[in-house]
Amino acid sequence: MISSVLVTGSNRGIGLELIKKFIAKSQPPEKIFATCRNPNGPRSEELRSLALKHSNIVLLTLDATDTNSVKGAVVEVEKHLNGSGLNLLINNAGVMPRVNLDKVDADDMIDTFRTNVVGPMQVTQAFYPLLKKSAENNAQELLGCKRAALVNVSSLLGSIEKTSLTFDVEKQVVSYRISKAALNMLTRLQSETYKKDGIICTALHPGWVKTEMGTERAPLTTDESVTGIMEVLNSLSEKQNGILVCWDGSVLPW
Ligand code: NDP
Repeated sequence: MISSVLVTGSNRGIGLELIKKFIAKSQPPEKIFATCRNPNGPRSEELRSLALKHSNIVLLTLDATDTNSVKGAVVEVEKHLNGSGLNLLINNAGVMPRVNLDKVDADDMIDTFRTNVVGPMQVTQAFYPLLKKSAENNAQELLGCKRAALVNVSSLLGSIEKTSLTFDVEKQVVSYRISKAALNMLTRLQSETYKKDGIICTALHPGWVKTEMGTERAPLTTDESVTGIMEVLNSLSEKQNGILVCWDGSVLPW
């Protein structure tokens, strides 16, 4: 059983659906840390009402780009975990400015990189001791989410091998694609680094999903995507350490 999970950017889109699916499990985690930039803001209304109904949802402020906010979240999570570790960390928060190579500028690049790469890097650094503790406390479990796992929500658009297949001259989302390619490398480095601790690290492509980022044109609903993602999480093992996995369980090339 997954006892504890933390999701970043959980107030809408794929992040919110993840919280809903964890709650709907026959054996839901004891602690579901639903984090977002502004839990009291208008864009977190649905998440707030979910948290009111389910006492195992812990609503926390976490801006992945702000080190103080990340540190504050770690302190809160530690209080709730009461000495046990964190089973699963899902770095889901992300941004996608719609710029092509002609228009992209330094600010687009830096801002996108800050959220999509620096964010998951520093969130993981901060929660690493709790993931490590979970891996130690659950040493009897096989490698995977029941022991300790890190999932970075990446994208097929970050796959260098698939670039020409997914290329659109008008809508290249250049800073986004480069940031997700970097996130893939970060995941690989994390997997090599944390292997010794028994923590699985995997990059995950959620599919093209109807969210604010994915738009209404996307073929998948959040329900379809996250139903698949929950299966992937359930069966996460040593085989998926340091690779890019699709929402349907298939393996994607870097
Ligand atoms: P949405 O735009 O619907 O949601 C993005 C979420 O990220 C929001 O909760 C947003 O919070 C949050 N966020 C943005 N910046 C930060 C930050 N600095 N700190 C914390 N939270 C932040 O996107 P999706 O749900 O579609 O995307 C989720 C993930 O899936 C992303 O990593 C995205 O790249 C990836 N993905 C999505 C695809 C799709 O088709 N939808 C395809 C491939 C990958 P706020 O409300 O405060 O802005």
